[in-house]
Amino acid sequence: MAEHESLEYGKADFVLLDNVSMEEFMGNLKLRFEKGRIYSYIGEVVVSVNPYRAMNIYGRDTIEQYKGRELYERPPHLFAIADAAYKAMKRRNKDTCIVISGESGAGKTEASKYIMQYIAAITNPNQRAEVERVKNMLLKSNCVLEAFGNAKTNRNDNSSRFGKYMDINFDFKGDPIGGHISNYLLEKSRVIFQQSGERSFHSFYQVNMLVFSLSFFLPLQSSINDGADFKAVADAMKVIGFTGDEVQTVYKILATILHLGNLTFGVDGDVTLIENPKLVSILRELLSTKEENVEKAMLYRTVATGRDVIEKQHTIQEASYGRDALAKAMYERLFCWIVGRINDIIEVRNYDARVHGKNTVIGVLDIYGFEIFQNNSFEQFCINYCNEKLQQLFIQLVLKQEQEEYQREGIPWKHIDYFNNQIIVDLVEQQHKGIFSVLDEACMNVGKVTDEVFLQGLNGKLAKHAHYTSRKLSPTDKSLEFDRDFRIRHYAGDVVYSVVGFIDKNKDTLFQDFKRLLYNSANPVLKAMWPEGKLSITEVTKRPLTAATLFKNSMISLVENLASKEPYYVRCIKPNDVKSPLLFEQERCRHQVEYLGLLENVRVRRAGFAYRQTYPRFLQRYKMISEFTWPNHDLPSDKDAVKRLMQGCGFDHDVAYGKTKVFIRTPRTLFSLEEQRAEM
Ligand code: ATP
Ligand code: MG
Repeated sequence: MAEHESLEYGKADFVLLDNVSMEEFMGNLKLRFEKGRIYSYIGEVVVSVNPYRAMNIYGRDTIEQYKGRELYERPPHLFAIADAAYKAMKRRNKDTCIVISGESGAGKTEASKYIMQYIAAITNPNQRAEVERVKNMLLKSNCVLEAFGNAKTNRNDNSSRFGKYMDINFDFKGDPIGGHISNYLLEKSRVIFQQSGERSFHSFYQVNMLVFSLSFFLPLQSSINDGADFKAVADAMKVIGFTGDEVQTVYKILATILHLGNLTFGVDGDVTLIENPKLVSILRELLSTKEENVEKAMLYRTVATGRDVIEKQHTIQEASYGRDALAKAMYERLFCWIVGRINDIIEVRNYDARVHGKNTVIGVLDIYGFEIFQNNSFEQFCINYCNEKLQQLFIQLVLKQEQEEYQREGIPWKHIDYFNNQIIVDLVEQQHKGIFSVLDEACMNVGKVTDEVFLQGLNGKLAKHAHYTSRKLSPTDKSLEFDRDFRIRHYAGDVVYSVVGFIDKNKDTLFQDFKRLLYNSANPVLKAMWPEGKLSITEVTKRPLTAATLFKNSMISLVENLASKEPYYVRCIKPNDVKSPLLFEQERCRHQVEYLGLLENVRVRRAGFAYRQTYPRFLQRYKMISEFTWPNHDLPSDKDAVKRLMQGCGFDHDVAYGKTKVFIRTPRTLFSLEEQRAEM
């Protein structure tokens, strides 16, 4: 907790509120925002409110102020949490992670970048060339990933449409020697469709500067400096180490997708055909493949019936479906390939680990926050499940850590009640009974596979579940407008999902013919992206894992990974929907505070002890209050000295003495100490 700030800025740590009520919490948050204090703490959790204006608090001088300091010594800041994570990693040899959460536009990605900049700034005092190179690549990788994974949405001009977890590896000196990026569920449907007012991924507009093509896939809209960004991204790819051929292939894939957007189908008698054959030559050229292959893959599908292999002509609908699936799949594959290439290059093995010994890790997680839209589909369902998992981790770790600290210090632990969302996590992911299982089952149905069948499955299995309902189960419920709707009571609030599209998105089918087409490209970079295109239709026997299963597995391993590290949290809040630096929309913020569980966080933190400090540090700050400790004490230990000081002030009843730290139960006591100190 930060003691140094004047109270005119409100309480720097919410733990110090007089009463833990929503009203007081909001009052303090608002006051701080209005006073330009965008960061606050709940114990060691940073609460951040997006200022929507340039703040002069990230410069070299600020970095210097936080370097090596303890959390409470300076006003709340991201740098303090970054430093705490770094210190824990360096001093105690611990792997740490920083989990950044909050809704779209709340400032997660900006926070992750400031954290990385801070770490880059405080490391490598000896300017070792290899370390400088790694640092530069880690920072540059952000630029590339944002170009390909971010887009302008109605909520955020630079919205991340994927989840990102980045490990930074450090050598024993505490200098970065490499890293690894994991990416989660890219919103690839954006390639073919955007809500009105939104854009596709930035990369398309950037490459558009090159090919000048118009595409159905690309709503024309420019509010962003695509030309300058194009140069920055091209430069970043070069610095990271993409070869010229690789970069060219990247542009070709983007151009291919844009052209696919213009490809239309028609019929002549009972023959399906491509209406704009000129495009076929362009595509062939871009994909380095033979002309008839492109056309054939667009219009026919190879199917195995028993022992025979036949070519079946697509209907217009099937051909259009195939085209869209191809565009989405190519983009997703491209994105994953880019991440993979960056990983190849920044991996630690490229650094001489033999010389530099064992290494430790700081992980930074910047992942999509809870989403409630007008229309919620499969993507929102996955994203909200991800947030349930992270909330579960938060509950376990925050409680666990408190518990462990009390145990370590030999202080009895008092249990606190909070809503445990494990029940919702189970509702989604449990084997056989969970929503993902029901969805996968519906997808495997041999009979009619429709979204409605899936919904029936849900209603059958989950009719009695307290957190699930649907139109059929609650016919009078006004929020369930359509027969296709079901509702989940998430920890963060109720969300109505429409089942429309769940089956398709979960199966995520891409005809084998397309994979073969791309695998047979003469462009080796493209070919390497599609190894499974090698198989002929009769060899493709295994059903690919569904999107839901892949996502679930990736979430489970993410959470396992985070749980193995010492976590630090940044909770981001978006103050308004109009990107205004002045507006603090009370109701909107209150809702976020509620679903981020911040009040519970304060309660848990306070249920035990609001404040804790090691004995020497405590004395350093308060020894002037007591004649027994000022200027120095002659008691056998600092612990005895603190006891003496507290007894003298009459606070003994509010304090517990651990092995290395003093614990103060109520904030009042601390205020009082502060006041006495000020009077000295
Ligand atoms: P999404 O989930 O959509 O990716 P996000 O939480 O990552 O959203 P950011 O992209 O980090 O949100 O922030 C949105 C915008 O808010 C930024 O482009 C920037 O204009 C502004 N912003 C965020 N944090 C800060 C900050 N610390 N200082 C100044 N402006 C900020
Ligand atoms: Mg983001």
